[in-house]
Amino acid sequence: MQAELRKLPGVDKMFQSDEVAALAKIHGRQLVLEAIRSELDVARQQITVGQPAPSSTSLLQAIAARLSADVRPSLQPVINATGVIIHTNLGRALLSQRAQTAMQQVASAYSNLEYDLEVGVRGSRYVHAASLLCRLTGAEAAVVVNNNAGAVVLALTALAKDRQVIISRGQLVEIGGGFRIPDIMAQSGARLVEVGTTNRTYVRDYEQAIDSEHTGLVLAVHHSNYQITGFTTQPALAELVELARRYHLPLMEDLGSGTLLDTTPFGLAHEPTIQESLAAGADIVTASGDKLLGGPQAGLILGRADLLAKLKQHPLIRALRVDKTTLAALQATLLAYLENRALVEIPVWRMISADVRQLARRSQKWRAALRQNSTMAHLSLHVVDSASTVGGGSLPGQTLPTKALAISVPAVDSLAEKLRHAVPPVVARIEDGRLLFDPRTVLPEQDNVLITILKRVLVDNQSSSI
Ligand SMILES: *Cc1c(COP(=O)(O)O)cnc(C)c1O
Repeated sequence: MQAELRKLPGVDKMFQSDEVAALAKIHGRQLVLEAIRSELDVARQQITVGQPAPSSTSLLQAIAARLSADVRPSLQPVINATGVIIHTNLGRALLSQRAQTAMQQVASAYSNLEYDLEVGVRGSRYVHAASLLCRLTGAEAAVVVNNNAGAVVLALTALAKDRQVIISRGQLVEIGGGFRIPDIMAQSGARLVEVGTTNRTYVRDYEQAIDSEHTGLVLAVHHSNYQITGFTTQPALAELVELARRYHLPLMEDLGSGTLLDTTPFGLAHEPTIQESLAAGADIVTASGDKLLGGPQAGLILGRADLLAKLKQHPLIRALRVDKTTLAALQATLLAYLENRALVEIPVWRMISADVRQLARRSQKWRAALRQNSTMAHLSLHVVDSASTVGGGSLPGQTLPTKALAISVPAVDSLAEKLRHAVPPVVARIEDGRLLFDPRTVLPEQDNVLITILKRVLVDNQSSSI
């Protein structure tokens, strides 16, 4: 053991080698030093359990591998083959080219973020996407904050702190990640008054709960991620608007996914649009920027100018402040809607409107590419009918028909795991013991990378299972 330990080179000695010097040039001396120390520790550990000292080549390889792992960012691109378009765990909406360019432009140069170029004095960041939002939705005013949960808290805090907010029991939702709307709302200091039952709430339930002295707001929350079916009643938004007006209370609707486009032409159920909610008379509408809108993470607040003025003056808005790159991406995304190019430019809508024959062709192409490899000739590869989903807490239970590549192997979980460890990682869907790859959420420009990774992982999987 002592003899083996003595074979290990010293740190100084290692730095004299050309290979280590080259690594130090790329990664800096300190990081290389840490990698060498860690790998020497590993080698010593192995020697104490009876292993021989590593060769200098394998020691160098281990150091290089550790360095590339050290500098690989934890947050990295992945290939989403799940068919879930707005996949919250995989980063929700992808940005359009126009939005990416806009972000880069304001990131790399100074901008008029809070500077009024007309007068040459301090301006407000809140003007930037606001006029576009108003133009597209018919809202009187708009303000953008960090995300929709923040938008809801800000609106309730500014408009109903220490007052009652009336909400239907059927709308007390959990939005994923364990976050519950009622808990978020409670942070505002508003007191939630729950009315009706899970499946049935009537206008009179709201009316009975209104207390002219203590009620501050009537709240509707869109059923983003679940359905209540069967014996159900919820008043139409217009009925709640009428009630709220009668009692001089503001009516707020949290739409969640906040679409500007109608979802029905794509065979999906109707998701209420921001325009419809405002047209029905909602005083305040809140929505996410990175769900069906297809833009950056943001919370959009639209509605009455007098109410939004209160929000803009509230100190909490500073804590929910939206970044300049977000505003740039949001503006660019909204411009695509203004020019009626959303279906062409915005990835979420490109994926929703993708032609299933086109998707089938891509799955066939993936299959053919894998088949070319003789070791995969006997592998079970099929293009199958499957269903993509919109996700992101919108359109629950709604699916889009798709054609996915299905791979059947004995150990499907282990194959899925290997794919998750690829660079870039590939996330697929396991269904009926098969691994499904849905082209709807794989960008066409990722096709070749996906095929390369699949080939490598499948070959590796076969040799390891023999
Ligand atoms: C998604 C969602 C939210 C939260 O929006 P974020 O932008 O994720 O903060 C709030 N309310 C509803 C109804 C939602 O669907």
